[in-house]
Amino acid sequence: MRGCSHACRYCFARPTHEYLDLDAGKDFDSQIVVKTNIAAVLRKELGRRSWHREPVALGTNTDPYQRAEGRYRLMPGIIRALTDSGTPFSILTKGTLLRRDLPLLTLAAREVRVSVAVSIAIHDLDLHRSLETGTPAPKARLELVRALTDAGFDVNVMVAPVIPCLTDSKAHLDELFGAIADAGARSAVAFPMHLRGSTRDWFLSWLAEHHPALVRRYRQLYGRGAYVTPEYSTWLRERVDPLLKRHALKPEKPAEPETQPESPHAADPQLALFG
Ligand code: SF4
Repeated sequence: MRGCSHACRYCFARPTHEYLDLDAGKDFDSQIVVKTNIAAVLRKELGRRSWHREPVALGTNTDPYQRAEGRYRLMPGIIRALTDSGTPFSILTKGTLLRRDLPLLTLAAREVRVSVAVSIAIHDLDLHRSLETGTPAPKARLELVRALTDAGFDVNVMVAPVIPCLTDSKAHLDELFGAIADAGARSAVAFPMHLRGSTRDWFLSWLAEHHPALVRRYRQLYGRGAYVTPEYSTWLRERVDPLLKRHALKPEKPAEPETQPESPHAADPQLALFG
């Protein structure tokens, strides 16, 4: 799919919608382009002699378990095609709809390497409602982590992005990591928000409307660029690492397939993932 009805204000996949002559704001949230023949095309591609079963990352741009998946049911065909071809794959998502495919994923994991990561950036309910309007509530995503863990998956949670001055307090991160550990996740990774391309204006207009007092601080942190200062990155890492340790979460970087440069769900400050 192109575009994402999860509509996260900070989503850095937004600029990719401009390739389609659609805008990176409301169009990205509402004009969803669905490749309805994906399973058949994928099966054909995977059958080529030149395919060497490289790991495939799903959920990098954009979320495969957003609302439209309920209607089009593309993921079961994709999972089957990957499994039948012996191709390892990973899924990164904010969509609790993944639970529908849990039995299929469990079977797939007997044949190929399957890794699943869930993205939970915000624990505060008001902020979640304002910034990630189309996503399932944090509690529902924690329940997804629990369901995946109970099904035998080692779940990694992307606490990403961390939003400066809004989700980077010790209390917020401690509470979130605690809830993630309680849900059974094995590892977590956190990194600061990037504001690349048109995502920058889309996010900053929200900030000016809802938190005008923070605009000056953001100017200091981001300048005219897309990334926070190295000082902030170091400060955040020093805050996050002891909290991960406290909750016995491995500070895991995303597996190779998730470190795609154009993914809105997660990763480190220079790479990127989405979900
Ligand atoms: S961050 Fe992920 S879930 Fe949110 S809008 Fe972007 S692709 Fe969708």
